Order: sequence, then structure tokens, then C-alpha cells
Amino acid sequence: MNTIRMMVRIKQHLITALFLLIVLIPAVILSFLAIRSVNQEEMVQRKRLEDTLLLELDRTNTILRLTIDNLIQELHESLPDISRQDITNSGSEEEIIRWKESEPLVGIPYLLVKDGSILYPDIRSSNTNEKKDADLFYWRYLNLFSNKESIPVYKNIAEEYEKEILDKDVSAEKIKLTEDKTNSSKNIIMESELISPRKEIQASDKNRIVLSKSSLSSMGKEAASSLSKDQDVSSNMESNVIRSKKALEIFESDAALQERIYSQAEEEGQQYLTRNLLPQITPSKRKENTQTVIRSVYIESTKYFNEIIDNADYGIIPRTFDSTFILLYWEKKGDIITGCEINMDVFNKKLIEATGKAENSFRFLNIIDRSGKPLIPLSNIESEKWRQPFVAKEISKLLPYWETAIILRNPEDFQKQIESSRYFMSLIVFVLCLLIFTGITAVYKVSSSRLKNVQRKVDFVTNVSHELKTPLTSIRMYSEMMAEGFQKDPEKIIKYSGYIASESQRLTRLINNVLDFAKLEKGTKIFNLETADINSLIKDIIPSLKEEFNKNGFIFKENLNKESLFVKCDKESVIQVLINLFSNVQKYSTDEKYIEIKTFQKDKQIIVSVTDKGTGIAKKYRKKIFRYFFRIDTSITSDSKGTGLGLAIAKKIMKQQGGDLIYTALKGDDYRQGSIFSMIFPSAEKKDI
Ligand code: ADP
Repeated sequence: MNTIRMMVRIKQHLITALFLLIVLIPAVILSFLAIRSVNQEEMVQRKRLEDTLLLELDRTNTILRLTIDNLIQELHESLPDISRQDITNSGSEEEIIRWKESEPLVGIPYLLVKDGSILYPDIRSSNTNEKKDADLFYWRYLNLFSNKESIPVYKNIAEEYEKEILDKDVSAEKIKLTEDKTNSSKNIIMESELISPRKEIQASDKNRIVLSKSSLSSMGKEAASSLSKDQDVSSNMESNVIRSKKALEIFESDAALQERIYSQAEEEGQQYLTRNLLPQITPSKRKENTQTVIRSVYIESTKYFNEIIDNADYGIIPRTFDSTFILLYWEKKGDIITGCEINMDVFNKKLIEATGKAENSFRFLNIIDRSGKPLIPLSNIESEKWRQPFVAKEISKLLPYWETAIILRNPEDFQKQIESSRYFMSLIVFVLCLLIFTGITAVYKVSSSRLKNVQRKVDFVTNVSHELKTPLTSIRMYSEMMAEGFQKDPEKIIKYSGYIASESQRLTRLINNVLDFAKLEKGTKIFNLETADINSLIKDIIPSLKEEFNKNGFIFKENLNKESLFVKCDKESVIQVLINLFSNVQKYSTDEKYIEIKTFQKDKQIIVSVTDKGTGIAKKYRKKIFRYFFRIDTSITSDSKGTGLGLAIAKKIMKQQGGDLIYTALKGDDYRQGSIFSMIFPSAEKKDI
């Protein structure tokens, strides 16, 4: 039987371990992940908003780049066709002046020979305005045109290191290429503008011209013919565009890669620009001499004018003089170079027109120029605020340091929205976690209490068998001894008969308990309630009990109320409860063998208490002892056999008669001093008899 008990215990531990493994650990991990995701909610929301706004800036920048393309085309188409002969005919000057008058984009027009000699504007001009323009122009460009001074040219780092970036992610690139090839050609044109595949800032680069497919027909013959030379140029361009776009995407999304490519560029003598603006959300910031800087996607190297115009027919050069930003248009025809310094007021106006709605209910959008000045005047926002917009994106390598930027109209609203959604998510996570853990605890409790029940039932069967066997063995032994007539001593015969009687009583008590348990459980136990004087009921059974207790060395004290105490009860059941309590006193008394039975009235209750000075019951067991099959596992209880039924049945019997059975320690602070079991009855009137 002990092995069965052990197996039940092992099973219980196994179930606990399995439970922990299969349910509790995943639940804890899940809760942890849920809590973490709530914490990351703010980041996710910000990222989502950032992505949306960056997409808007991307679109705006695409439009701006297309606008710049168109402006270059406009200059290219309107430029007078001046050849060597025209210069010698001296009709060229008038043509240049006419160009300036007819084309608003033209600021200061110029005409020069490849060797650097400036033919127009004329420094010796008698016209004061023209003379002023000429002085300024000579000061700004003489050294450049005569190739004495090199100037910075800008490249997109992702284009420049396209191979390195794409090599990192070859498979991704392939997928993207095949995906994008199926797109409409219109799409490709738009996308190509997101990042142009030109390797230099010059507009006349072949790749660059191809980008403006839509305006291809209106382009100069030279450019068009240079394209037609290569039949596959168009499709090559498409894949180039896609490759460049992919490279930029990969570059922008991978901080470690950025770090690597920037340092590679630095090692190769390429200088990266630092951005003018400090967006609140930005992919990679860098501390440089305690100041936070954001690296631009544009890198800078220096070139001479003849190098710049070498492999192109026309283009634009961005330049800065004393913090004045200027765009210089040039076009090459043989050894004659014509062009103009672009009128930046007109240029800016065109960009502003192309930008679209600068203000809506949610945000403000602006173009911020090289000096950090917003191009679009918005009365609600101080220009200083544009230094730290919510998001910003660089426009083009033709406009180094220029960015489009967005400021939120009500950043507090956005913060509030984030907070409330975080709060809501936390609440949901909390409730769900609570539900999960309550469920787990409930399931665990049910399963472990079931196992405990099984264990108790095993104990019960063990104990009952033992309890039945012991008195039966004694009865058989004494009765056989007497039946065989060996024992002639009448005193001994009386003694043996006494043993047989007490053992039979024990048996009866046990069988009664088992039967009562079954009846109480099924609800079939019948109580014959009648009003009786509890004192006289106790007095009836005391003599035999007292004799037995005295025989076992107990001090037996009776302290019955002087007057009769009437209660409504089933006499048989009350006697059964008393016998159970008395039997426990015998079982659980050790050194000090003492029993006292007391009856008294307290308010409207009649109380019968049985006091002993036995082992007592520790606080943690005081409720449990009234449960079926519960036995305290101590050396004393294991010495004295029992079924764990007595107190449970006794309490049930008392309750079903409208009373109760309660335990109190004899001395409150030290339970080991002994116990008091009190049977509580509601008092009944004598007249009920
Ligand atoms: P059983 O005596 O058959 O084990 P009971 O239901 O009568 O079952 O008692 C339940 C448990 O309460 C006992 O195992 C014992 O540990 C404890 N108990 C009952 N009566 C006493 C008492 N008078 N003194 C100390 N412990 C007691």
C-alpha cells in the first residue's frame, strides 16, 4: 500500500513539473513578450508615422527632381544655337541678351570659349548693369572656367558604392529586379526619379537624360541620338534605376552597412556631407565632437571645370559663394560653352509651385534651403523650428544640403494618442495575463486536489482495512481461547470478554462511520430530531466511557451544567459524535492523559465541549481536519490508525442538525497544550418535548 502512496506522490510531482513546462513557462514567456510589445508600442507608432511622412517626402522629392529636370530641359531648349562663326559675326551677344529677356530662369547669361576666355558678359561694357553683372561673374567664375580652381561635385553614396551594397544582398536584389520589371513603364519613370542613376551631378550624363523619358522627344537631337546609339539603353536604364533604388533602400535600412560604407568612402578620400537639419526621427545620428550630426547620403569630391564638362553635353553645377547658393547652367558645342547663372528667385518659385500643399490639418511641409531657411513662408511656424523638424529628407545632389521637411501641427495630440493606445494595450495585456494565470492556477488546483483525493482514498482503504483487521483478530483470538476451554480462571474469562466487548465497540464505531459517510454523501441519512436534555443524554453514556478512560490512565472530569439544557437533536447521531471525539482524545493524548466534558449555555447556544491535553492541532490544519480522509501526518497519527472520517462526519452531522462542531486550542498561543472540540446546538424550549 505504501508503494501505491509513493506512486501517487510521484505522479503528483510529475504532473506539477509537466504543468510548469507545458503551460506555465509558455504563458510566462507570452506575458513577457506582450508586456515588451506594449513598451515598444510608442516606438512602433512613431515608426509608422515616420514611414508615412517619409513616403510623402519621397513623393515630394520625386516631383521636385522632375521639376528640376524640366527646368534644365527648358534652358536647354531655349538656349540660342551659337557657333564659332556667330562669335566672329558678333551677332551672338544680341542672341544671348534676347535669351535672358525671354527666359525668366536665366540670371546672368554667359558665353565662353573652352580655353576659359569669357566672351560675354563683357567686362568693358559701357552699360552699367551689364558691367555690374560682368564684374560679379568674373569674380565668381574666372578661376573656375580657366581651370585654376576646382569645385566640389556631389554623388549619392549608395550609387557610388552600389556594387558593395548590392553584393551584400544579391538574392534580394534579384527578386526586386524581376518584380519591378513587370511594372508599368510609367512606374519605372517615377521610380527612376527617386534616385537617378547618374554618377555625377551633370544633367547631360546619358543616364540622366534617359530618366526623363517623357520629355525625351523634346530634348536636343544630340542627346536623343546619343541614346539611339545603344538599342538596349532603355532596358539597361530601367535595371540601373532599379538597382540604384534597391541599393539606396538597403543602405538606408542598415545602420551597420552605413557605418562600413561611410568609412570606406572616407578612406578613399570622399567627404560625406553633414545634414543641415536634425530631424527628431532619424536613421543614424553620429556624435562628432560632442555635437550630434547626421550624415548626408551625398558625398563630395573636387573637380575642375574641364573634367566636369568632359563626358556630357549640358548640365548644372551647384556652387556656394559666401553662403549664397547658385546653380550654374552650361552647354557645350564644340569649343564654345554657353549657359547662365540661374535666377534663383524664379527657380525657387518653381520648386514651391511644384511642392503642393504646404499645410494641412495634420502637418506643415516645407523646402529648407542650404542656409536652413524655409522657402515657403508659413506664418504659424518660426523658421528656427525647421532646424529640428519631425522628419526630413534630402532632395537631390543638385541641391546639396537642401531638404524637404515636415513638422507636425499638433505633436501633443500625437503623443496623447500614443499614450492612450499604450494605456489601452497595457490594460488588455494585464487582463489577459490575469485571465491566463487565474486559469492556470484553477486548473492546477483542481488537478492537484483531485490527486490529493486519490491519495486520501488510498490512505482510507489502507486504514479501514487495518482498522477492521485489528479488532477482528483480537476478537477471534480471545473467543477461540475461551471456546477451547483452556482458560478456567473466571477472572481472566471476564477480562477476555471485556476485551471482546471493547473491540466489538471499536468495530461498530468504524462501521458506523463508514456507513454514515456513505449516507451523508448520498444525502440519505435520516435524522430523528427530538428535543432532549443534553445533560441527561451525556449522563447515560458517561459511566461506560469513564470506566474505559480510567482504565487507560486518564483523569476524567465531568462539568455538566447544573440545570437541564434542552436541544433539538438526533440522539443516536449526537452519541456518535461524542464517541468519535472521545476516541480521538484517547488516540491523540500522549503524556498528560486528561479529558473533560463540559456543558453550558452561551447566549442562545448550548455547547458541549470535550477538552484534552493531547498533541493539539497546528493552525494550518484547523480547517483541514474537518475534511474527509484528512489526517495530520505526524509520528503520533501514524502510530494511531484512523480513517480521517471521524471529524468530517461529526461536523456534517452537527451542521445538519442546525449546529456546528468547532476546534479551539486549549491555550491560544501554544497549540501543543491541548484541544477543545465544541459541539454547538441552538437551544430549544423545554415545552417542545
Ligand atoms: P482519524 O482520527 O481517524 O485520523 P479524524 O477525522 O477523527 O480522523 O481526525 C482527523 C485528524 O485530526 C486526525 O488524524 C488527528 O491528526 C487530528 N485530531 C483529531 N482529534 C484530535 C485531538 N483531540 N487532538 C489532536 N489531534 C486530533
